[in-house]
Amino acid sequence: MQVSENSVNNTPSLKNLKGFDGNNPPDPKLIDSCVHCGFCLSTCPSYRVLGKEMDSPRGRIYLMDAINEGEIALNTATAQHFDSCLGCLACVTTCPSGVQYDKLISATRHQVERNYPRSLPDKLVRQLIFTLFPNPDLLRLFLFPLLVYQKLGFPQLIRATGLLKKISPRLAAMESILPKITLKSFQDNLPDVIPAQGKKRYRVGVILGCVQRLFFSPVNEATVRVLTANGCEVVIPKSQGCCAALPEHQGQTEQAKALARQMIDSFADTNVDFVIINAAGCGHTLKEYGHILADDPEYREKAQAFAAKVKDAQEFLATVGLTTKLSPLTDKPLNLVYQDACHLLHGQKISVQPRQLLRQIPGVKLKEPIDAALCCGSAGVYNMLQPEVAEELGQQKVQNLLNTGADLITSANPGCTLQITKHLQGNKISVLHPMELLDYSIRGVQLEI
Ligand code: SF4
Ligand code: SF4
Repeated sequence: MQVSENSVNNTPSLKNLKGFDGNNPPDPKLIDSCVHCGFCLSTCPSYRVLGKEMDSPRGRIYLMDAINEGEIALNTATAQHFDSCLGCLACVTTCPSGVQYDKLISATRHQVERNYPRSLPDKLVRQLIFTLFPNPDLLRLFLFPLLVYQKLGFPQLIRATGLLKKISPRLAAMESILPKITLKSFQDNLPDVIPAQGKKRYRVGVILGCVQRLFFSPVNEATVRVLTANGCEVVIPKSQGCCAALPEHQGQTEQAKALARQMIDSFADTNVDFVIINAAGCGHTLKEYGHILADDPEYREKAQAFAAKVKDAQEFLATVGLTTKLSPLTDKPLNLVYQDACHLLHGQKISVQPRQLLRQIPGVKLKEPIDAALCCGSAGVYNMLQPEVAEELGQQKVQNLLNTGADLITSANPGCTLQITKHLQGNKISVLHPMELLDYSIRGVQLEI
């Protein structure tokens, strides 16, 4: 298929087009490995919703190639198709030719952010997101106003009037996934070192995340309890900040590098065997540090060594094995559906391990939804930046999860949990992290279902 400038923006000029710069453009060798078979199209969520070739992996690869070749420009008409990609990496799993679309879209996103002048409203929303979300200390300042906002019932009012949606669909999308603020959100009280229970098997570091630390602190506490109960001494350096997932996925090159360096420095003297993370998106980025800092002579090797120690919590526990006794979570069989987060399933190829662990809980019956490998639409901040596509994917995902007849949903990514919870609307079914379920099971806590 030929891509011409005409096919994307009706502009005939083909000379001196503003395209990618020379700083790590999408690699032509990787582009050439695509044989245009189209197998990836059916698994691509943006193609499923938008239905256009240019919003599919194959179409985006054509665009990258044409921009690389100077045939078309990087402009609104082309950048929108890169922006519509969720970065879910389902196409990487599907592609029979092993096309490394993850590398291609990552290089492209950094190019887009450097070379494509966004509109002022787009810039402002992105700036708000990139300033706020990777900065837990700053985010924490908003907790009290948000608590008051929720206590006074403003969310119901705002959503009922639809006013915010009319003013800014993106801000409305941000508001709609706001989790319930609790007193726990104000606490950050995990000690620096927590001893193993019984015989010490490993010394592990734990990464707290940004959103996870503030809005899902029970998940971090559960993770620490599960690890210590299974013979791990846990180390939590307080200097750790954001893992860089958000800026890295959105092409904010320098911010991502700075955050990765800070994270590596935080763990520099901890002497841990592994670095454990319980959020799928963060885990994928942490494992990519060697790539993110490949051009940094001071940090290149440190980044590779750090990344080699990173393990998803479920990956780690399934590998080293649980040593604690597990109790049933309910007095009847528990129908549980595990929601695969894309950055675990496609990004880290982790799907068996969480299921293995959950099946060890007595009484758990695992259900499988249709389209399990399809993104829920959360995709980091995608549901805030592309709310319409995310809305449709969220509705589809929740319907598929509910159709399993499960009593409970479990997901190992805060973004997925927020997206699914939003679309559950009124359904009484809860979404918990697998670490919370293991923790309850270890402590003999019964769930009310
Ligand atoms: S990315 Fe892979 S699956 Fe998709 S068109 Fe190219 S070769 Fe085929
Ligand atoms: S990463 Fe996901 S949304 Fe993007 S092209 Fe691949 S399958 Fe489609």
